[in-house]
Amino acid sequence: MGTNNPNDPSLKSWIESANQNDCHFPVQNLPYGVFSDKKNSSKRVGVAIGEKILDLSLIEKTHLLPVAEGTFNQPSVNAFMALGASVWKETRNAISSILVQENRTIHDHAVLLDQALVHLEDASMHLPIEISEYTDFYSSREHATNVGSMFRDPKNALMPNWLHIPVAYNGRASTVVVSKTDIHRPLGQIKLPDQDRPILGASKKLDMELEMGAIVGTSSKMGQPIHVEKANEMIFGYVILNDWSARDIQVWEYQPLGPFQAKAFATSISPWIVTRDALEPFRVQGPEQDPQPLPYLKQEGHYNYDLNLSVSLKPETANTRTIISKTNFKYMYWSSPQQLAHHAVCGCRMRCGDLLGSGTISGSNSDSYGSMLELTWNGKNPLTLDSGEKRIFIEDGDTLAMTGWCQGKNYRVGFGEVSGKIKPAIEHSFHRDDK
Ligand code: MN
Repeated sequence: MGTNNPNDPSLKSWIESANQNDCHFPVQNLPYGVFSDKKNSSKRVGVAIGEKILDLSLIEKTHLLPVAEGTFNQPSVNAFMALGASVWKETRNAISSILVQENRTIHDHAVLLDQALVHLEDASMHLPIEISEYTDFYSSREHATNVGSMFRDPKNALMPNWLHIPVAYNGRASTVVVSKTDIHRPLGQIKLPDQDRPILGASKKLDMELEMGAIVGTSSKMGQPIHVEKANEMIFGYVILNDWSARDIQVWEYQPLGPFQAKAFATSISPWIVTRDALEPFRVQGPEQDPQPLPYLKQEGHYNYDLNLSVSLKPETANTRTIISKTNFKYMYWSSPQQLAHHAVCGCRMRCGDLLGSGTISGSNSDSYGSMLELTWNGKNPLTLDSGEKRIFIEDGDTLAMTGWCQGKNYRVGFGEVSGKIKPAIEHSFHRDDK
């Protein structure tokens, strides 16, 4: 028993659905999530394999895993993440051993086979981590250039600091939700161009932002800077992240301290954390960084990932989704380990469960932009959906879905998807000040 390399492309699982070429969850992936089902309503940790979930809260009782009993019988992955990178690797090796074709331990164990495998369709997915804090970066050069061109000056689209600092703001962990959670259109102050004073109203420029979220697994000490390489080892894995954004609220509030209410109402993440170990074969070099970053941000290895991403939009009444963007995570100028190293350089303590949004991921073509703001160029070029409907920004009843995968030889390491449906703004009874 035991495989030397859980990323070996030739591995197959005894769970047949995991062996399809386009399956997001082959035996080379093994992403962690938190689920419950009708038979057992308690939240617990599992890994996705094909169309199934392997319930680790049961597997850990068999002592086939190198962790103490109870590690996975938890409503989040935090207890496991806190054990550190060498335990993550050993555990992944052990789970891989259990699930590869040659191993019949569970397959031939009728009780385990019946109880420890839950069909994905029968499970409810929950937020996989207890999120300590959430920081959102702004690390796509294409995105920052597009936004700078629209709102400032096309000739000086990037701010002078942008090529030196992975720019970010501190977001809200309290409103990070798992995929399939409905989102209410936010209220906020909106200042219309032809009005002297702002009003309180529902956003009319509701947008998405296609991002990846890096999840910090191990903590650092207050006052202690981290090297990029060490920062990489602190990252447990990645999820797809939709940083919902209200552009009309944002444009009025964002100077001088950055986005606040325009982003604080909701952030959605995909339910399965794809581990850094599973992404290892898909590491690629990022874009050349010129000027050279300061030494504390210098990276020697390859810290970007060749990860295909796409976004679809489905109006409430439409039968089909329309793909509105296709891009790739590899285009990011600043890598996630660089972001983490920058975050900690002042002495900021990073904790198990911290979530780092990559920033909107835009490619160089107009169909590879990661926000409606860019795709429609702030409303100038409406999108035509397959249903014939047009969109400038997101309307009530629309469902946005984002998916991503790394393409291996005859297999994919996928993220599943993050989706969210927009509900009308919550009724409010604040009096307008002119009444
Ligand atoms: Mn963002």
